[in-house]
Amino acid sequence: MYMDLSGVFIDDEDGSLPRQAIFSEGQKQIVTAEIDQDTLRSVEILRHLPVAVSRFNCDGDLIGQNPQAQKLFGSTCLDAKKDNCDTNTSLLDRFVDRDLGRNIIEAVLEEGVDKHVEAQQHMPHGPRWFAIDIRRSLDPIDANDNIIYTAQDITDVIHAKKEADSANNAKTELFAILAHEIRTPLHQVHGFLELLGHTELTPQQAEYVKLMESSSATMMCVISDLLDFTKLEDGNFEIESIPFDPSEVASSALGVVLPKAAAKGLVLQNNLDAVQLPKFLCGDPNRLRQLLINFLTNSVKFTHKGKILLDVSIVKGDGSQQPKTNDDQVVLEFAVSDTGIGISSEHQKIIFKEYQQVDRSASRKYAGSGIGLAICQKLVEKMDGTIGVSSEIGRGSTFWSRIPFSVDSRSHNTHIYATIHDDFPSDVRDLSILVVEDNVINQKLAKDMLKRLGHKVTLAADGLKAVEAAEKSVFDLILMDSKSQY
Ligand code: ADP
Repeated sequence: MYMDLSGVFIDDEDGSLPRQAIFSEGQKQIVTAEIDQDTLRSVEILRHLPVAVSRFNCDGDLIGQNPQAQKLFGSTCLDAKKDNCDTNTSLLDRFVDRDLGRNIIEAVLEEGVDKHVEAQQHMPHGPRWFAIDIRRSLDPIDANDNIIYTAQDITDVIHAKKEADSANNAKTELFAILAHEIRTPLHQVHGFLELLGHTELTPQQAEYVKLMESSSATMMCVISDLLDFTKLEDGNFEIESIPFDPSEVASSALGVVLPKAAAKGLVLQNNLDAVQLPKFLCGDPNRLRQLLINFLTNSVKFTHKGKILLDVSIVKGDGSQQPKTNDDQVVLEFAVSDTGIGISSEHQKIIFKEYQQVDRSASRKYAGSGIGLAICQKLVEKMDGTIGVSSEIGRGSTFWSRIPFSVDSRSHNTHIYATIHDDFPSDVRDLSILVVEDNVINQKLAKDMLKRLGHKVTLAADGLKAVEAAEKSVFDLILMDSKSQY
């Protein structure tokens, strides 16, 4: 027979059943002596514990505490008005944020739950941060409910984390500024290369220009991925809600990758003619297109022969990976399947994390920053959707996303959208266009590009000059970015 830690006597012959213990006087003395020794050892442990441990009654008044709590929070005496009791003896008074303290104490006492919280506590020399655990316990002597409070000072950890966070934020901000500063000249290089490609060149010069164009296009993709990623990271990213035609968004994404797929001899298929999709939904068509282009570009990149299929469908029922919806929403699933190199199940778990590529050497072979899928995941989260992959090495992969969209009930929006689409001629020339742009290189680029397309161009360096120009002449189109100053 022995006594377990909670003081219950256990029969050690037949296992664990507690039994009435009948002791002789001699045995009782031995048990009492053992309990005394055990208590002394427990007290000794508490005395040296570098964690503050306090006991409060259910009114939140301090009943007792270990030396570490005394050192941090002050005297144990119950009457705080006595001379040597200069600190608070109430649990609530320890909390700098009293509402937080009140909620925690209430939850512990009323719901009987254990609570862990990181909070600032008042101390004789000013508040400090603590990792605090609060739980209800039964007093072993008088069987009253007590509150056991343990606290560990984490002020240094919190300060170190704040410093690391602000250094990280500064780095992210610098990153975004640099990416933005690089993007403008890169666009210019790319634009002038395109213009150069339309001038008279020797075959060798034309080949060099083509190669430079492809390199600058790759750089632009990386830079805009980095910009998107930093924006998504610091929450500076808005998802639009405008009417759009899902079939059209899917077709335009296919159009972007078609030349590359064709150049590799891959078949690019879709089910858009076979599926009945809603004509108008409300959501962010540009972000949806970006997601599909990312899936499709990866499929083209990692497939050497065979086909790529974009399958769009309306999701019915509430499968496990179904996003939450309400009545006027429809969930669409976009799945891009390929017959490419495939991804091992181990790597499928990590590829949606930033900077993850299945094989580092692949980044040299296939090019890429490893943040495309991380951006996709964050975009889909922003649209309240879900994302996933199924794949088999050597057989191919299917990347899918399920996104809820509102059904556009405002018929007039549908009408406007449809009208713009139907009436806008696809081949317009001879327009009189006002370009509002302060950057002189961009002015030159825009002017030469539009002139090459057969338009007449007027330039204005800022919003004020644009208004003046618009008062003097009539323009078919005014191009300006949203940040141009009036
Ligand atoms: P990257 O810019 O490197 O392509 P992504 O985040 O888009 O970055 O993709 C991460 C990694 O996931 C890729 O480097 C590749 O290893 C793997 N991957 C993505 N799509 C496919 C696919 N369709 N087939 C095989 N591997 C893929």
